Amino acid sequence: MPATTGKKYIERINDLHSDVWVDGKPIQGKISEHTAFKGVMKSQAALYDMQHDTSLREIMTYTSPLTDQLVGTSYLQPKTQEDLVKRRKMIQQWALSSNGMLGRSPDYMNTVIMALASSAPFLKGKENCFPERLVNFYEYARENDLSLTHSFVNPQVNRAQFYLEDIDDEPIAAKVIDRNEEGIIVKGARLLATRGGVTDELVVFSAGGIQDKANGFAFSIPSNQKGLKFICRESFVGGESTFNYPLSSRYEEMDSIVVFNDVLVPWERVFYYDNLLVSNTFATKSSFLPFSIHQAISRQIVKTEFVLGLVQAIIDSINIGEYLHVQEKTSEIIIALETLKALVIKSEVEAKFDEWEVLRPDQKTLQVASNIYPKVYARFSEIIQQISASGIMTIPTENAFQSELRADLDHYLQSNLDDAKTRVKLFRLAWELTMSAFGTREMQYERYFYGDPVKLASQLYYTYEKELYVKRVREFLI
Ligand SMILES: Cc1cc2nc3c(=O)[nH]c(=O)nc-3n(C[C@H](O)[C@H](O)[C@H](O)COP(=O)(O)OP(=O)(O)OC[C@H]3O[C@@H](n4cnc5c(N)ncnc54)[C@H](O)[C@@H]3O)c2cc1C
Repeated sequence: MPATTGKKYIERINDLHSDVWVDGKPIQGKISEHTAFKGVMKSQAALYDMQHDTSLREIMTYTSPLTDQLVGTSYLQPKTQEDLVKRRKMIQQWALSSNGMLGRSPDYMNTVIMALASSAPFLKGKENCFPERLVNFYEYARENDLSLTHSFVNPQVNRAQFYLEDIDDEPIAAKVIDRNEEGIIVKGARLLATRGGVTDELVVFSAGGIQDKANGFAFSIPSNQKGLKFICRESFVGGESTFNYPLSSRYEEMDSIVVFNDVLVPWERVFYYDNLLVSNTFATKSSFLPFSIHQAISRQIVKTEFVLGLVQAIIDSINIGEYLHVQEKTSEIIIALETLKALVIKSEVEAKFDEWEVLRPDQKTLQVASNIYPKVYARFSEIIQQISASGIMTIPTENAFQSELRADLDHYLQSNLDDAKTRVKLFRLAWELTMSAFGTREMQYERYFYGDPVKLASQLYYTYEKELYVKRVREFLI
């Protein structure tokens, strides 16, 4: 059955033995048993198993157009509004299992590769572009339920507008340095790849801003391709105890720098290269934006519901619901939640067929949502901290509850609603979500994973149709 299982996913990734470095050491042995990865891999495995739950199969899978087998819904190229709704329901079903903390559940990249392949005809007839290879890869990924990560951004060396790397120097930003009958040779680095090293493949494509055509390409390679290395930051897993670290023990996704040391990308995996115009326009001409934002917002809705639940649970626990500012802060979350829900549905209702007969959710509506979330998510953290006050610091560990301190803790840390242990678990969750390394990384993730919010706002400004309204003002003034 093409829709994979958790066991197969874990075996596949272990068998790759990709070159992944944590804390200056390469991972030896099974990556699924490494402390930095075991929680998140287990959580991802559980997602794949959901595809085989008969009560969820209708949402999680659909029949492959190539075989009569069931494949994952996140690969579905929507042709009807029902397809779009089915995609959202599937995304939210997976998101529910981590309450939206897995920003890179596999449906994100499945969606991206589906969107790019759906727009493959854009590449047709263009120099050094190979649309059929992109479609082949999408079908291969779908039929084998591959897990993918990606890297779009060049290293943060010099972000001045007209900075160009010296072509005579050793490359820093990954570039094509050679080509031969087997493929292109890539050298340099890309940042960042969340989950780099625990996916089957790495997809690399240029999302714009390319000034040197050697830096512009799109391809996918196995994570264990010779010369490919993932350099991880330190792990933010606090520990294995779900009492102490309810989130990082399960959902720490890891981020890595990707280094290409003369990596051969075989021709059948090169989707385009050496074409400045395509490297700078494919991301916006393709359906990448509407579909990837539709996935992200659907997940963020689930995450926002969880934040609201957490805030209200804290309010109930220490009985602060009568205060107006607490009500106002909670309402801020409700307003954000209902706004996001409305926008995602609006994007589906206003979906239109693109020139390649794929039903795209309305892009401008989704762009609005993606401009909202980086701001409101940071505010959610602040609200949780403000309503928790010292509660977020009175959080003894699981060991403390198993020590002779237990009687003191039970007495002094009880709350209006909860016994001490329940109350501490609740506040540990609040702490981990907003103040731990895991939690602050979550904030940075929601701020930046979709790109620089400043550029997202600028993109919205330039692409939004404003002329009609200007005309109304002009006519009013006549
Ligand atoms: C947790 C996390 C996970 C991520 N995972 C991935 C991943 O898996 N794959 C991936 O490809 N990327 C990933 N990213 C990277 C993400 O795409 C980038 O962070 C984002 O595109 C912004 O780019 P940058 O970080 O290089 O910021 P920079 O572009 O270096 O920006 C730094 C500062 O300079 C300002 N600035 C820079 N250029 C301009 C300009 N032209 N105009 C105005 N202001 C400017 C920015 O506003 C910002 O304040 C991740 C990021 C984070 C934080």
